[in-house]
Formats: sequence, structure tokens, C-alpha cells
Amino acid sequence: MDHSGRRRRLQATLGEHELDGLLVTHLPNIRYLCGFTGSAGALLVDSRGATFFADGRYRTQARDEVATARIIIARKAPVLAAAEFLAASRSKTIARLGLEAQSVTVAQREQLADVLKRKWKLVSAPPLVERARMVKDKEEIRRIRAAIDLGASLFHIARRKIRPGVPEVEVAAAMEYEARRSGAEGMSFSTIIAAGKRSAVVHGRASAARIPRRGFVVCDFGVILAGYCSDRTRTVHVGSPSRQAKQMYAAVLEAQQAAIAQVRPGVSAAKVDAAARNVLRKRNLARYFTHSTGHGLGLEIHEAPRLAVGQTQALEPGMVITIEPGAYIPGKQGVRIEDVVVVTSTGCEVLTPTDRELIVV
Ligand code: ZN
Ligand code: ZN
Repeated sequence: MDHSGRRRRLQATLGEHELDGLLVTHLPNIRYLCGFTGSAGALLVDSRGATFFADGRYRTQARDEVATARIIIARKAPVLAAAEFLAASRSKTIARLGLEAQSVTVAQREQLADVLKRKWKLVSAPPLVERARMVKDKEEIRRIRAAIDLGASLFHIARRKIRPGVPEVEVAAAMEYEARRSGAEGMSFSTIIAAGKRSAVVHGRASAARIPRRGFVVCDFGVILAGYCSDRTRTVHVGSPSRQAKQMYAAVLEAQQAAIAQVRPGVSAAKVDAAARNVLRKRNLARYFTHSTGHGLGLEIHEAPRLAVGQTQALEPGMVITIEPGAYIPGKQGVRIEDVVVVTSTGCEVLTPTDRELIVV
């Protein structure tokens, strides 16, 4: 991974946001910029370069992982260590330090203000690293493909395990066990197995509920491999589907295909979302489509861009996004179909293996 190139590009943007430095505290951003994979650290990026702060637990790991930035191992919290480092620097004018507002607590901000007092003004920085992370490089796409291949291979376990009377958690457990055995670092989120009426619960994490004799089962699952996430949803039907169930599945599939057909450079995220929503509107299902059409994925399961109403972000080659419309009739049934696509120079490539017909088990 080209950590120093990423930091150079970040440094180049600081000026246009009137920042003299950026204190990176969001762990996936730290990993993106310097390679550190631990659970505590802070990275200070300013015009002179980058300094990584960690505590004693990470002495060895930081040396192994952070090859291109200066490392300071402190006896205190990394954020505080970074503040004291800055306070000791000999600048005469007041400088502006950008903070990642989403990942700094109120207590940390107070601590920082206390240490930096008159020398540094603290400001909320725009999501500069998140923006850079939207467009993936070749190595990132290679890792995402590998995660997706591993993730997709778990679906045959779901198909085999899903039978009337089996608790949802048992299906999830079998998938997660196989994921770890196959080398996954973990799941990218708690596996969703939502059967029968629970298929209408959008985030129906696998529960103790047993799979009924008849109805949809939404399976939404992903793995983390070499730091990168996969994400995929398939909805299967136990027992023979009713006419209404078949129509609902067909409508969601049509909505998904319509959205995928819109994906190409220059198209806004909102337009892709609208394509899915329009199909469901024609089928009188729009009010049951209660979430956005998709999201970016990479080091995190949910990243920018968000494919939702009002999102003006234009798609660019190298963005990796999910396309996952759904319809959920409360107390009755729900369907979601999700694939990951990478935006190419002319359109998109679907990375998830493409069987999408309704599977009846
Ligand atoms: Zn998703
Ligand atoms: Zn998903």
C-alpha cells in the first residue's frame, strides 16, 4: 500500500482548507495513511510530514507496520501525546489544527484545548481522509475482490442449513465458523439471518427464532480479509412462494438491476438511488423501501459515498459501492438483494457472483 503517497496527497489539500495540521484519530483513516492496524493510536499530519503516536502495548507492532512515518511511543494516551508534541513545537503564530469531529470525544477535545491553549486553534476538519478513501487503488480492489470471493463462498452453507425449525443463529454460526476457518479476520458485521416475519426487519441479526415452514429468509453477510470488507445479501424462500412473494422478489430484483444499470462515472449517487426507487414505486412498494440503495465499502463496511436521496456526490472510477434495494412489509415479509460493484471508466463491474434468481429451499 502506498501510504506515503496517500499522506502526500492529504498534505497537499490541507492548505485549501486553511489547516496547518490534521490530527487523524479515526482508526481506519490511520490504517489507510500509515498501515497501523492496532486499536489505539493517533497520526499527526502537517506540512513537515507525519508522526504516529501509540502507547507501549504497540511498540513492536508499530515498528512492524508503520514503515514510512516517524513513530513516538508514549506513556500516555496517543491523542494527549500528540498534543504535547505540538505544544512543544516552536511556532510563533497561532496555527489551525483540524480534528476528525466524528472520532474525537468531548473529553479529548477539552484535553487538547487545555494542552494547546494559545498556540493552536482547534477546528472541525472536513472528512478529507474519507473522501480520499472513496476511490480505491488497484491493491485495494484486489483485496476487496478476495474478501468478496471468500464471503460469497459462505452462501452455500446458508442454503444447506436453512430448513424449517432451525434457529437463525445456527445458520449464522455455521457461516461464521467457515469464514474463520477460511482465513477471514472476522465478519464485517453481525450476520443477518432474518426468517419469516423477521425478514421484514431491515437489520434482523440472526436470533434464536426458528425458521418457519414457509417464508423468506434474508441472509446478509460479509467477511474481513486483509483489512477489507465484503458485503452481500441474498433472500431465499422456504417452501413454495406465494404469488405475492414472487412478485415482490421480482420487483426488488428489477430495482437492483435498474440501479446497477445507472452506475458509471459522472452519475450522482442520488440518481442511482432514484433508479431503484422508481421501479419499486411502479410496483407500489416504494413506501416499503426504507433505507438507502447502497454505500461505499473498503476498510469499513459503511463508507462514503452513500447512495441516497439528495446525495450529489458524482461516481468516479475506482469507487466500490453496494447496490442493495429492498422492500419490507412489517409483520409480513421482506426481501433484499445486494451486490458489490466497482465503478469502471465506462460503467461498472459487478464483483459479487451473479446468481440472483429466487432460490426455494
Ligand atoms: Zn450493505
Ligand atoms: Zn449487506
